[in-house]
Amino acid sequence: MLTPPLVSATFVAVLLVTFLLKFWLLQRQMRHVAAHRAVVPPAFAATVSLAAHQKAADYTMAKGRLALFSQLLSTALLVGWTLLGGLDALSAWVQGMVGAQTWGGYAQALVLVGAFALIGMVLDLPLEAYATFGVEQRFGFNHSSVGLFAVDLLKGVGVAVVIGTPLLWGVLALMREAGTAWWLWAWILWIGFQLLVMWLYPLVIAPLFNKFEPLNDEGLVQRVQSLFQRAGFSAAGLFVMDGSRRSAHGNAYFTGWGRAKRVVFFDTLLSRLQPPEVEAVLAHELGHFKLKHVPKRLVQFALVSLAGFALLGWLAQQPAFYLGLGVRPSLVEGNDLNNALALMLFLMTVPMLAYPLAPLFSAASRKHEFEADAYACAQADGQALAEALLKLHEDNASTLTPDPVYARWTYSHPPAVERLAAIRAQLNPQPVARPA
Ligand SMILES: [Zn+2]
Repeated sequence: MLTPPLVSATFVAVLLVTFLLKFWLLQRQMRHVAAHRAVVPPAFAATVSLAAHQKAADYTMAKGRLALFSQLLSTALLVGWTLLGGLDALSAWVQGMVGAQTWGGYAQALVLVGAFALIGMVLDLPLEAYATFGVEQRFGFNHSSVGLFAVDLLKGVGVAVVIGTPLLWGVLALMREAGTAWWLWAWILWIGFQLLVMWLYPLVIAPLFNKFEPLNDEGLVQRVQSLFQRAGFSAAGLFVMDGSRRSAHGNAYFTGWGRAKRVVFFDTLLSRLQPPEVEAVLAHELGHFKLKHVPKRLVQFALVSLAGFALLGWLAQQPAFYLGLGVRPSLVEGNDLNNALALMLFLMTVPMLAYPLAPLFSAASRKHEFEADAYACAQADGQALAEALLKLHEDNASTLTPDPVYARWTYSHPPAVERLAAIRAQLNPQPVARPA
């Protein structure tokens, strides 16, 4: 039987364990990087300078310190919202300000979630500004201005309101109208929404923040076309993004589905790579498409969220769930404000329970990266891929000496040592000829 003290005690225990675990992992990572700062690891001695290695170490430490502080703050904030009564007070305030019947009863719930999100954003702002104008600036990565930072912020809020409001409204309507199996319908809505956003992102959302242009370097276009053909890859294409507007970091990624699918290169990365390296990185991204990594991740995500929605469907009906987390519920049927409280409490607390699963998801992601590398080695020049990866590490000041436990737990991409070793192992038995 779920009682308020049981919920409180479980919450505190899970919060404490998760906090200590994250703290321990970050400490390990920082200690390991500091201990290996003096010497470039032997595998990279010929290719990476000591200065670049030490910059990566210092950058990793600076980001680690910021992450520790941010974690401390978010844990305190979570306790403030729940056990110390913050959410309950906000909910009482909204009930005083907004009529219970406004907008068919939905107004209180929407205002509550909006106010909560706004407060969270404002509290997070100093940290975000420090990350950009403190840490990134200090290491020479920041290209953003205060003006651009502010405009980005406003655009982000606009996007969140435009796509978040209909979703929230839809879920609240299902909670009110769809009976006891509302969570199943809400899950279907949620998955449909994910697909819609994946499709809209490259077409509508990303262009609000950056310019995307088709590749126009003649020699490169030919190479890219012939790779697309070899790989049997139709539609979409390769776009160059003006990442240099905000940062010196370089990257490449794949996005979208159907006709909206595309590979995006940051201009910062493109300017650093030789044509065979561009081709190899592109082949890696195509590998993600060809090996169906997107639908595989989507299925994984759908299953985890189904379990989450089922749990939410049950918890939302338990008075102890609210009381144990510092909120007075009103469990009359169709109370939208209460439904919004259930959603918020759930999203604040339950994902923590899944943190022990993080190594599984990270491992699945790293497996996909190895597979995409292997695909790239078969379709393009593996040696060029290895060189491009090294440049990518150097440009992003990614450490070459991560703590093994930290990397196992959190890294979505394999550490450089492992990735390069896998590429070389594939190259050495039968070297792949460089395309003419
Ligand atoms: Zn990848």
